[in-house]
Amino acid sequence: MHVRASGCHDADQVPCVTLISGLARHEAPSKPSLPRAGDAYSQTAPVQCTPDADAPTVHAQQPRGKVRAMDADAGPERYGCVHYRRKCKIRAPCCGEVFDCRHCHNEAKDSLEVSVHDRHVVPRHDIKLVICSLCNKEQDVQQDCSNCGACLGKYFCAKCNFFDDDVSKNQFHCDGCGICRTGGAENFYHCDKCGCCYTSLLKDSHRCVDRAMHNNCPVCIEYLFDSTKAINVLHCGHTIHLECLYEMRAHQQFSCPVCLRSACNMSDIWQKLDQEVAASLMPAIYQKKMIWILCNDCGMTANVQFHILAHKCPGCSSYNTRQTRGDPAACSRV
Ligand SMILES: [Zn+2]
Ligand SMILES: [Zn+2]
Ligand SMILES: [Zn+2]
Ligand SMILES: [Zn+2]
Ligand SMILES: [Zn+2]
Ligand SMILES: [Zn+2]
Ligand SMILES: [Zn+2]
Ligand SMILES: [Zn+2]
Repeated sequence: MHVRASGCHDADQVPCVTLISGLARHEAPSKPSLPRAGDAYSQTAPVQCTPDADAPTVHAQQPRGKVRAMDADAGPERYGCVHYRRKCKIRAPCCGEVFDCRHCHNEAKDSLEVSVHDRHVVPRHDIKLVICSLCNKEQDVQQDCSNCGACLGKYFCAKCNFFDDDVSKNQFHCDGCGICRTGGAENFYHCDKCGCCYTSLLKDSHRCVDRAMHNNCPVCIEYLFDSTKAINVLHCGHTIHLECLYEMRAHQQFSCPVCLRSACNMSDIWQKLDQEVAASLMPAIYQKKMIWILCNDCGMTANVQFHILAHKCPGCSSYNTRQTRGDPAACSRV
């Protein structure tokens, strides 16, 4: 199922409906027992891709902190809709109807109430006509009204046909992405391999995955590239919504749902596990029991001493391992 980023506030808050099944699929082989493993995430600064600017969510930008209601400054002077402050409407090229913005169109035309045959989203790059909200003049897409001269949007992108009076989002157009994004061009760079704008902090420090952002979130399966929500790049290079990553944490899931590698830097957790394993001696009958494990992090296969708590990879010291051969009845609980 492809859950489109419709962008309205309510839609953005739709819970990750497939979360549980999504996690369950990968749970069995990869879940080490992790005492207080939640620490791992708090020690990992969220690394983000910049959300689609033509997306009205205001809770997408972590650095700006608190959620800002779109209509916080609603007043008699206000033009626009719940998604944007702007002084024009668009004529949708698809159905010829007039809407405040493409999200308003999509909410009306891509909803479950619309019959499947008629359901569609507006192709944002094909919008040709806008209507000035002050003088109602319909005209070609342009920043200033050809009739009354009003500025239709303080931020204007002629490529995306996008208007927004709220320039505090620091919108910018990325030619690599082909869409406008938020967060300031100076803070992001476009990774050609991953196919998206990533925070500059990731420039030389992320593992590139071919078109990493042109996939669905492995947890909620929303398409990530033009998602309106904050997105995190995992250590393995796979991408996931930040909020979905937090959901994983809440479910004690610490490995990438795609490749099973550890989702963040776990070295502190592994050190704690070292102590726990050392402190819990196995009964004599298990002292000589050896098992085969496969490390989810480095891929090494190793023969290690069985332990009830967890099994450490001799190659990379990770406990994100799974038992591959041996007596299943004696399988450790991890
Ligand atoms: Zn339409
Ligand atoms: Zn006008
Ligand atoms: Zn643009
Ligand atoms: Zn880009
Ligand atoms: Zn990359
Ligand atoms: Zn998600
Ligand atoms: Zn991964
Ligand atoms: Zn390893």
